[in-house]
Amino acid sequence: EKRLPAARRYIVERKLNEHLRGDEDHLGIVMQGGLWNTTLRGLHVLGLADTRGRTPVPLLVLNAIHPLVPEELIDFLRDKRRVLVVEEGMPNYIERELKALAHEARLGVEIQGKDVFSPHGEYVPQLVIDGLRRFLVSAGMKAQSSGAIEDRYHALTAHREKIAAVLPEPVAKRPPSFCTGCPERPVFSALKILRQREPAIGDTHVAADIGCSTFSTQAPFNVGNSVLGYGMGLASSSAVSPLFGKRTIAVMGDGGFWHNGLTNGVANAMYNRQDSVLVILDNFYAAATGQHHVPSTGKNARNEPLAMTIPAALRGLGVKWIRTVNSYRIAEVMGTLREALTTRVPGLKVVIARNECMLERQRREKPRLRQHAAAGREVVQARFGVDPDVCTGDHSCMRLNGCPSLTLRESADPLREDPIAHVDDTCVGCGVCGEVAHAAVLCPSFYEVRVITNPTRWTRFVSRMRVAVIRRLAAATA
Ligand code: SF4
Ligand code: SF4
Repeated sequence: EKRLPAARRYIVERKLNEHLRGDEDHLGIVMQGGLWNTTLRGLHVLGLADTRGRTPVPLLVLNAIHPLVPEELIDFLRDKRRVLVVEEGMPNYIERELKALAHEARLGVEIQGKDVFSPHGEYVPQLVIDGLRRFLVSAGMKAQSSGAIEDRYHALTAHREKIAAVLPEPVAKRPPSFCTGCPERPVFSALKILRQREPAIGDTHVAADIGCSTFSTQAPFNVGNSVLGYGMGLASSSAVSPLFGKRTIAVMGDGGFWHNGLTNGVANAMYNRQDSVLVILDNFYAAATGQHHVPSTGKNARNEPLAMTIPAALRGLGVKWIRTVNSYRIAEVMGTLREALTTRVPGLKVVIARNECMLERQRREKPRLRQHAAAGREVVQARFGVDPDVCTGDHSCMRLNGCPSLTLRESADPLREDPIAHVDDTCVGCGVCGEVAHAAVLCPSFYEVRVITNPTRWTRFVSRMRVAVIRRLAAATA
């Protein structure tokens, strides 16, 4: 009784909702504030708004969608013949409320919304533009003829028919995944290999977490049985662990660990003597939100040095079994996980898999290397490749890796129908391709090369010597 009227007064007094008047006063559009950009963009491409958002179509932009203010809505509807509601989500509360208000106030306005757009799904530009076109053409405009609106719409969408002719089947969706060379990916390669090759140990409940590491729940890893919330993996696994009959694994990033995993996960596990394994992916930042600094980054947001570390925080809570591994060394990660899952030591076991977020590293390294190359200095970059003569095209490396730079190409061998693996130019040489092939005992197709820009005389000399030795050896064994 008090709060709703007070909220409505607040909305009106602060002018939270915007009523933008226009010359086409027989019609109007009511929209959720969040759909203003899409709607204005739609009007613009149909020739009914300029790039500054000025339009002859009257608009009511509801930046506050609860509570609705009946006086505002009736004021907008009055004297209009047609009104369109752009409202994402179902049920269509705004559209229903408008219809009820118009009925009570005996206004002769026709209100449309979901029937013009769609009762379900996201209000993507394609859907909004099509709905706007249909509404505006049927309502009739003074500023633009219906034919002109249709012509613009056709020009905008004509390419779709061509695409449909070229691609009769929808293109397969590619699940979002870790960046090229991400240091978190190999940890999930290790978990997947362990699960496949040693199911008695590795096939257990994995509580995933929020962050880049959530990609592990998607193909090709499909590692992660549950996701509760940011930093909540270990806390959630405490409910499962006692019932599971074997040790479970919780995986969280360093961001999740500092956010609340330290308290509600680790402190809770120590308090309840939880016998399970925690894997912390220490990539030095809260990477998924934009490489924000965390306490273990080594510097705070003002770049002042810090000495806070994850092992010190764990030891502070009494964790004794802590191992730190290089996340790119898959065999080492597997060995440490095996040990954590089988050791007789009771209580919480923590494996910290460390390496810097590759996205952040490349943002720093690429400009530096470009500068060095431009200055004529020698620059050496590692790259991986696949020997097309050795690759059998069974793609087992991809099922354990999923790096965007590891892709497919047609085999030049007419006897092989399947496409073969191929590493494209975006490879950053993290080495995981070779590590996966080694740890999972795959075919020896992968090779590593060094791409050298501005080689020095010494580098050229060594290269010539190597070529000469290889030629002699090849001739001797031919
Ligand atoms: S942002 Fe960093 S941690 Fe996240 S997927 Fe990319 S490389 Fe990995
Ligand atoms: S070595 Fe393999 S996993 Fe690493 S960046 Fe290159 S293609 Fe990707």
